[in-house]
Amino acid sequence: MRHRAALLSLLLCAVASAATAQVMTADSQGKMTPVQALDQLRDGNARFLANKPRTHDWPKTVAATSSGQFPFAAVLSCMDSRVPPEIVFDQGIGDLFSVRVAGNVVDEDDLGSLEYAAKSGVKLIVVLGHTRCGAVHGAIDNVELGNLTALLGKIKPSVVAAHCSDTPARSASPRSRRRTCASPCATSAPAAPTSRPPWTQARSSWSAPCTTW
Ligand SMILES: [Zn+2]
Repeated sequence: MRHRAALLSLLLCAVASAATAQVMTADSQGKMTPVQALDQLRDGNARFLANKPRTHDWPKTVAATSSGQFPFAAVLSCMDSRVPPEIVFDQGIGDLFSVRVAGNVVDEDDLGSLEYAAKSGVKLIVVLGHTRCGAVHGAIDNVELGNLTALLGKIKPSVVAAHCSDTPARSASPRSRRRTCASPCATSAPAAPTSRPPWTQARSSWSAPCTTW
């Protein structure tokens, strides 16, 4: 009986350790391929969607990465508080370079950051857009607000290319308004992707392709 209890305990420990995030090292980064990096993000997003994230020993991870970092991917994403890359991809400290700016557009500073990430050995760069993006919404509405005006100016060419407009007419509730793009959407619109990458789908928050509001 005692032997069976010990065996069960051992099995439970094995299951627990399998779900514990491992810290990226120079060796694991070097051996990873771009396809494997993409698969790792897809798997992480699947865990997020299933509400079954890995366990993270944060103090241990902080200590393990104190002398160096070896992320396997860089993610350029919006600053939107509802789309934190490390959470929606179920990744830990030291796994991702994260560049975040409203509307996930780039200027020289952001490009420089991504170039550093590439030089540091990442296998993949992801541009992560999302639905109901306030920055895209602002660009459509020609919002002008301090330095934000120039940022929205970087999004407007994609809005124009995607022929976004209100449909069919504005309802009484602003939150119920939907903006869709004439088909087909421009593939160059980074904040309004034409297709829904399965690894970035977040439950019901992802709406039909080309919908930005
Ligand atoms: Zn956004």
